[in-house]
Amino acid sequence: MRKQVESKNKKSPNLISAYRTESSEVFSRPVNSKPPIVNQRKSQPLPQKPNKILRRRIKRNSKSESSYAKVKILQVGYSKWKGYATQCACGSITLVISESNLIEKAKRNIIIVDTGVPSFSKKLLDSLKKEKISPQEVSYVISTHSDIDHIGNLNLFPEAIFIAGSDIIKKDVFIDFFEKRYTVDENVKIIATPGHDSKSISVIAKTEQGIVAIVGDLFEKERDWKEEGTWEPWSQDPVSQMKNRSQIWKIADYIIPGHGNIFKVDKTVDIQSLDKNRIEKNK
Ligand SMILES: [Zn+2]
Repeated sequence: MRKQVESKNKKSPNLISAYRTESSEVFSRPVNSKPPIVNQRKSQPLPQKPNKILRRRIKRNSKSESSYAKVKILQVGYSKWKGYATQCACGSITLVISESNLIEKAKRNIIIVDTGVPSFSKKLLDSLKKEKISPQEVSYVISTHSDIDHIGNLNLFPEAIFIAGSDIIKKDVFIDFFEKRYTVDENVKIIATPGHDSKSISVIAKTEQGIVAIVGDLFEKERDWKEEGTWEPWSQDPVSQMKNRSQIWKIADYIIPGHGNIFKVDKTVDIQSLDKNRIEKNK
């Protein structure tokens, strides 16, 4: 069963690194971002022949206008029943590398979204090693929600900033909090998407291939709107979850679900109607 899942997953793309669109409201109207330096400079008249420093600035600014995040799934999440009442599951673990140029000095944020079950700690470290990333280099660890199959390896990254629920923590200091949205950098944002539980959040990454939403158990797996009993039985608030699923459907080009592989959003599917029918049928 496990082997079937893994070999099936190999066929799907798990590296997203190309993007150009302004379609997402999350990105066209950032909440916490300061005015980018690039715009202030644009308004200044340039001399006829830009000197060496200006030429360098122009080059850097044009780079900042096209900065993106890269998304790679380190562990494809799964869930399967073994017998009547035993379920085996591990949440998806996703690596996001974002090159941000909003500030003078370019910054590279290495972000892990969800950390899987505790028994996957070695597997997680090995997969990071393959990417030539040490645990100390990880800048952020974001937990989409607090289920144990998604938060089992937080302590591998003691130097990181942790984001979960509405809190942002570095070591033992609560450095910030947010209610609905938070901007990590120009390519990576977080939105509150309650439903599965009351503090669920989703990570929205701007990549060269499109907007990728990493959503935890807001979506359980690919095509979970087609199969009855895939997400609704695990939901604390199915109506909120339905609304947030619909919101993500509008924003994203790709979705990484909590227990399945990345899939492309089919904008012709009216997911809200399908989810609504399902909820009403099971009342
Ligand atoms: Zn889960």
